[in-house]
This record gives sequence, C-alpha cells and structure tokens, in this order.
Amino acid sequence: MEKFSADPVAFLKFLDSVGVERAGLISYVSPDVIGYTAEASDWNARYCAASPERLIAFGSVHPKYVTDAGAEVDRLARIGIRALKVHPAHQLFAPNAYRDGFGPLAAVYERAQAIGLPVMIHTGTSIFPGVRNAYAQPMLADDLGVDYPELVVILAHGGRPLWMDEAFFLVRRHPNMYLDVSGIPPQKLLEYFPRLEEIAEKALFGTDWPGPGVPEVRGNIEKFLALPLSEKSQRKILYDNAARLFPPRLK
Ligand SMILES: [Zn+2]
Repeated sequence: MEKFSADPVAFLKFLDSVGVERAGLISYVSPDVIGYTAEASDWNARYCAASPERLIAFGSVHPKYVTDAGAEVDRLARIGIRALKVHPAHQLFAPNAYRDGFGPLAAVYERAQAIGLPVMIHTGTSIFPGVRNAYAQPMLADDLGVDYPELVVILAHGGRPLWMDEAFFLVRRHPNMYLDVSGIPPQKLLEYFPRLEEIAEKALFGTDWPGPGVPEVRGNIEKFLALPLSEKSQRKILYDNAARLFPPRLK
C-alpha cells in the first residue's frame, strides 16, 4: 500500500494486472474519529491527477470544520474531485441533519446538486472506536431523495450487514439514488440483495479494497461474475452504470 500511495503509476499497473479499467478512490474528512483532515481531499485530487481518465477522486467536506461549506464543494470540484463521500458514522452527524438546523450540510448538498457532483453516503455499521452507528442507517438518506431530487446519491455498502432492505427500498424509491455493493463479499451479494437484478440499472460494483476483509480485487470480480445474474446485468453493474455516472475525463 505504501508503494501504491507513493506512486500512482504503480497503482495503475496494478489495475492493469487485475483487469480494471477505472477506479474510484475514496477519501473523507474525519478529524474526530479517524484523524483524516481536510488535506485528504487535496491529496486524493493530486494523486488522481496522474490519470484523470482512469482514477476518479472522491473527496469530502466536513461541514463542521469549514467556514463556507458550499464554497469548499466548489473548490474541490475545481481541483478535480469528481464526487463527495459523506461518512455519517465517522463524521458524527446524520446525513439528514440539515433538517434539524445543520445549515452547512444543506450547503454541501445544494452545491453538489447544482454542479452535478455525486454524493456517496456510507451506510452500514463500523466498529472503529468512537463510531456512532445510529448515523449509518440508510433510511436517514431518504430525506435527500425528497429535498435534493436531482442530486445523485450513492448508498455505499448497501447498509450491510443490518439494513439492506432499507437501501434496496431507497434505490427503488428515488430516481437518482444508487446502490454501491463494495464491502459486501460478492459470493454473499444475492443473499444480501436477492432482488439485485431488479435494480441492475442502478447498482455499482466496488470492492472497498484495501479495506479490512477485502482480500483482493480480481478475486472479488471473479466471485461476482460467478453469481447467477444475467450477463447484461453483470455488465451494467461492473461497467455501464459507473461509466454513465462518471464519464471519462481526459487530461
Ligand atoms: Zn464507506
């Protein structure tokens, strides 16, 4: 990992070796729980600039730690961030806290919606010390579909391992809400989402590599391909949906 962190070219070679054309690289700001500062977004943008056509930089705005959250969204877009990650359980606010007066969070969603930046929301439990799992429930993101209907919202990890039904419901309810299956062992994916095929148009493959419990990228792809899904659905989930949401951007 240290080698890849220091050298995007080495990472691109790794992607070649596992048959992956493009990757979303996730970063987020969580000074309280994990220790990631606002520099995480800038670092990620710089890293992905090595190959904007293949590396999709996710950044984040912690609305409690910036003076103008909306302006920070604009700044991130300018430096090459293609999507925002919100990690409610690690950032210690509910994804719909703007309804209880957390104005800077509304500013993040408003700007992201206005400039077409997708927002990925972490859903599902985490066991890191200090985490607040009550914020990790997918249903808290229902309000986003109501209040920001044009905002593309990606529900990361599909609420695993407790709230898959909520995530599935939300993806079906809201036209711009998507399911990300990263962090779910692919061989269990249809146990988690028995009706995955019905939302194949709105599901995105991901691995969560190099997160804990994700052994390897290629193995995950192979396990996914072994699932009894139609070839068409597999292609949508592995490729087409992401290509549509993140059109390749050339240098
Ligand atoms: Zn996550």
